[in-house]
Amino acid sequence: MQAVPALSSAPSSPEMLRGKRVIVTGASSGIGEQMAYHLARMEAHLLLTARREAKLQKVVERCLELGAASASYVSGSMEDTTFPEVVVKEAENTWGGLDMLILNHIGHSFFNYFNGDVGHVRKLLETNFLSYVAMTTAALPMLKENEGSVVVVSSMAGKIGTPFVAPYSATKFALDGFFSSLRHEFIIDKVNVSITLCILGYIDTENAVRAVSHAIRDTPAPKEECALEIIKSGALRQRELHYPSWVVGSLVLLRDIAPDFLDRSIRSNYKVENIKRT
Ligand code: NDP
Repeated sequence: MQAVPALSSAPSSPEMLRGKRVIVTGASSGIGEQMAYHLARMEAHLLLTARREAKLQKVVERCLELGAASASYVSGSMEDTTFPEVVVKEAENTWGGLDMLILNHIGHSFFNYFNGDVGHVRKLLETNFLSYVAMTTAALPMLKENEGSVVVVSSMAGKIGTPFVAPYSATKFALDGFFSSLRHEFIIDKVNVSITLCILGYIDTENAVRAVSHAIRDTPAPKEECALEIIKSGALRQRELHYPSWVVGSLVLLRDIAPDFLDRSIRSNYKVENIKRT
């Protein structure tokens, strides 16, 4: 087993991730891909996962060019209930330990009125929620041993109800419930594993822009900066990240003090005439 210093004493900068062993899910595109590149520049050891092998190969090559201590991938779908454990086992076999687990992947969903497809909600819960639970459970012995961190990427839609994303929103609220409860238990039980929940606003990834740009009035924030903020918040063992901070922070505050006003403002931000029922 490799001797790697623990993350327990709060690091002052992301350079503290040098030599740390990190799993990033959903790393073949978008924010996950950008997190892989930042971690590579920080000289971390990386294990990346997503479904598309060809994309993962290219991301791994780039990570090695950027300075990763090591980089490899496991391809597969989180719809497969056995896959989360396969990924964690790969980390165990390769490194014999783990310092940070970054849970970031999401399955495909629609941006539209809910069409009554309960099967889709069930499938999305498996990919976006249950696989996060399964990976954390499988990784916990290693994370405990190394006083590591779990970073859970969620969304404004996991704190505040927003239209046209009902199944997605349900999976993100579930993450908040589960991981906020687990954080209490770790503290009560003196388990020195941090849990950081990342609440993101609209980010300029290809998939997000393609899905929603015709229907919402906001300008997306940059994925590169977002990725760095997520890594920093995990390294600093923060409870929650709100990014972009003033947007997310003020919406969460409004939710608590003026929920009806907030709901009206949210609805006015959508070009509903551009949403064609499917
Ligand atoms: P992308 O769609 O760009 O990336 C999603 C990643 O998940 C890809 O690597 C994809 O790779 C992987 N993936 C998709 N389906 C599966 C599956 N069944 N099994 C395993 N992996 C899968 O998403 P973003 O980068 O935009 O989002 C990243 C995170 O940020 C998500 O948790 C999202 O909810 C959150 N977020 C994003 C916002 C935004 O505006 N972009 C706003 C709020 C939150 P592959 O296809 O190769 O499997």
